[in-house]
Amino acid sequence: MKLLEGKNVIITGASRGIGKGIAQIFADHGANVAFTFSSSEGPALELEKELTAKGVKAKAYKSDAASFEASEQLVADVLKDFGGIDVLINNAGITKDNLLMRMGENDFDQVIETNLKSVFNMTKAVQRTFLKQRNGSIINMSSVVGVKGNAGQSNYAASKAGMIGFTKSIALELGSRNIRCNAIAPGFIETEMTDKLDDKVVQSWRDEIPLKRGGTPEDIANACLFLASDLSSYITGEVLHVNGGMLT
Ligand code: NAD
Repeated sequence: MKLLEGKNVIITGASRGIGKGIAQIFADHGANVAFTFSSSEGPALELEKELTAKGVKAKAYKSDAASFEASEQLVADVLKDFGGIDVLINNAGITKDNLLMRMGENDFDQVIETNLKSVFNMTKAVQRTFLKQRNGSIINMSSVVGVKGNAGQSNYAASKAGMIGFTKSIALELGSRNIRCNAIAPGFIETEMTDKLDDKVVQSWRDEIPLKRGGTPEDIANACLFLASDLSSYITGEVLHVNGGMLT
């Protein structure tokens, strides 16, 4: 059964990793996919081709999620190109890890702008469309780190915890118009973002996870599919933890 047949979806930051996994599984379920990338045009165009070959409409947009103007322009472009928007996935994110002692002001600001301010930018930009059609699903990619914190990631943890507060507030604000807003809090997912971590540290994390493995982009994409589709039509303001049992 295709769960998103004919739905138009925007995913930020989908040239690789979790965003790419979401784009692939959504296309398999019949969704038309508009997605953004920040720098690597080659992989984004490859993905556009791959999704189009699945028989859906797909288009890559170079757009900085941290920019309010760029987000408004993106939504206008997608509305023109796709004719509507049903689902927004705020996935774009970065890390700039350091202990507070060594963390520069720029490292803090950049992470907050890219991970948290971007969610405000994109949600505000699609709001008018969702209100008009009295329907929409917004999914924000938070993190286990936003729930329990992590030494060396105070900027990242603050951005991801902020996303949860934003998610719950928007669920309260827009629920009466049948607009749902939920967050996903992935645990340790093996992507290019986590490739740069020390092998020994990564193995010790895998050992501590009750399911004894890191997650895959598909693990997160399947949770996203549930929250985007009508299967979750009575769920809003929730944080779905997808972490192999990490918090248990
Ligand atoms: P990744 O680094 O592989 O991919 C991040 C994507 O975001 C890339 O496509 C990049 O181009 C895009 N991006 C970065 N800055 C952008 C900007 N300003 N505008 C538009 N796009 C931008 O990371 P990932 O592991 O796939 O993570 C995706 C999301 O999931 C992030 O929000 C991340 O914080 C979150 N997350 C990841 C993990 C994990 O373990 N990998 C765990 C919890 C949460």
